[in-house]
Amino acid sequence: MQIPEHQVEEIRANTDIVDLISGFVQLRKRGRNYIGLCPFHNEKTPSFTVSPDKQIYHCFGCHAGGNAIRFLMDYKNISFVESVVELADNLGIKIEENAAPNVEEKSEFEELYEINVLAAKYFSNNLLKNPKGEIARNYFQNRKIKPKTNTIFGLGFSLNEWDSLLNHLKENKVNLQQAKDIGLVDSKDDGNYYDKYRGRIIFPIFSPNGRVIAFGGRVLNPDEKTAKYINSPESKIYSKRKTLYGLYHSKEEIRRLDKAILVEGYMDVVSLFQNGVKNVVASSGTALTEEQVLLLSRFTKNIVVNFDADLAGQKAATRSIEILLKHGFDVKLILLPNNEDPDSYINNFGTEEFGKQVANAKDFLEFQTEQFFNAGAFNDTKKSAEAIRELVKNVALIKDELKRNIFIKTISKKFNLREKLIEKELDNVLGQNITKEIQNEVRTERKNASNLNLLQGETESNFSFQFERDLIKLLLEGDSEIIECIFDGFQPNDFKNKVFNQIANNVESNYHKGIFKTSLIIDSLLDETIKTTALSLTLGEDVISERWNDKNEDDKIQLNHLQKAKDLVRKYSVLLLNNQITKNYHQILLAENDELVKQLLIENKELTQQRKRILEGQGNSDLI
Ligand SMILES: [Zn+2]
Repeated sequence: MQIPEHQVEEIRANTDIVDLISGFVQLRKRGRNYIGLCPFHNEKTPSFTVSPDKQIYHCFGCHAGGNAIRFLMDYKNISFVESVVELADNLGIKIEENAAPNVEEKSEFEELYEINVLAAKYFSNNLLKNPKGEIARNYFQNRKIKPKTNTIFGLGFSLNEWDSLLNHLKENKVNLQQAKDIGLVDSKDDGNYYDKYRGRIIFPIFSPNGRVIAFGGRVLNPDEKTAKYINSPESKIYSKRKTLYGLYHSKEEIRRLDKAILVEGYMDVVSLFQNGVKNVVASSGTALTEEQVLLLSRFTKNIVVNFDADLAGQKAATRSIEILLKHGFDVKLILLPNNEDPDSYINNFGTEEFGKQVANAKDFLEFQTEQFFNAGAFNDTKKSAEAIRELVKNVALIKDELKRNIFIKTISKKFNLREKLIEKELDNVLGQNITKEIQNEVRTERKNASNLNLLQGETESNFSFQFERDLIKLLLEGDSEIIECIFDGFQPNDFKNKVFNQIANNVESNYHKGIFKTSLIIDSLLDETIKTTALSLTLGEDVISERWNDKNEDDKIQLNHLQKAKDLVRKYSVLLLNNQITKNYHQILLAENDELVKQLLIENKELTQQRKRILEGQGNSDLI
């Protein structure tokens, strides 16, 4: 689906970013902006800022930021088109069908997605129709996976050949370097490409909105001397840490039931789903990450962890408890009997029995206590004290005080310990946690400061850095008069700081197209670092407009901004002239031939006159 540019414009122009975001984040007014707790990272003091004037948001903690469309995309993990459609829905705007195709060039991302789709279809075809795919069809049959399920999850088979996918890609004129970047093929020293997945069952990995972003490949014959699984490498379109296998298929059911079941493997997801347990996702080959938990928390905060019963699986389960509690999840765990994994269990005992396991899932405290018990941790006093401390550490991660107290009571009862004793231990741990948080904050502060130094280091002096920074802030005010005034005095390439230089160039080229609104300009900055700088400059606490905030009437503020722009341009022009004049005098002192001296003197005379004109024009000479 493509949405015509003029409609995107209409939707953008009619959406109010504060209205939109308040639907998801509690915002309160501060100055001209709104602030709230960032929905994209965990924080206790709000650093998430929304500007109604500029129709943009920015988080000073995690650097998330952009316009209304971007917010929905990131918040709900949906595509650009999906986000625009949702905003259009909110506004009651009907998107034109048969819209003229967007003439814009395909982005590199689109190209990579398309290569993946091409490969996924090819693999799937091998499994469904290719005579050489018989062996894979038998495999799935043995594992009780129905052809329909194969289709739903796009499962496939990669022939045991060095060039079968490669030839298919070549026939479709795919850029093979790109195919290599996303791990479908590899190349030898002589530069010849070859298939990376050979003789493997293929599990396409989807983004939450259904894009094929990666593949997992499992060997058919486990006796072969090769890795059991190979997975796509990290790429522009795939980050393992941010991906949950199965989420695209299960997200609706997870929302409906307000509960997710977390398993280890691809086959667990596919099997449970086929058997009607559709709220299932897998962390696919990594220990559960912070990013995966944040992703899942957009759909539910209730989770049942069902990892394999082997030692590795149980260790992973224990590790996941900490990270889930930290993000406010209600955590339950299942340990299936007789070393069964979810896939084998549901196939052997059926959906109903599995449902009972879920219903009887243990809370993390019971689960961990049992783990410790089985490991013999309560056989001697020293070990059991350590074990109880471990338990209290996890309780300390729960932010809800009421819930925390319930767990304390449980521990006290279970181990026949005085509640006071456990509370004391809890206070100790909480104290440590708070120190850790403060340490983290200090670390972030330091990092921010050093980023700023980096920025400053590029310019000749602090002085010009500050001027340039203020000019950029004004350029991002979204006011055409201000932009005009600044570009009357300066060219974008006059900005010495590389980042400012790029922003200024971007503002100028947009300005020529009649675009000057802050959100549109920021949207058109493609480099993430530059975009983040622009966002934090324009929404920063130390905005130059701050002092005029007291003057409440909006037009007055505009006027003052314009005045400030004129003032800055003048001051900065004079500063630059001063610098040049001083430089020339230095050169005159060092010059060895008269011709050069003469030339420099003439130049300085001109520069001085220029400076005089600027100063007289404004009738203010407090600068030299
Ligand atoms: Zn944030």
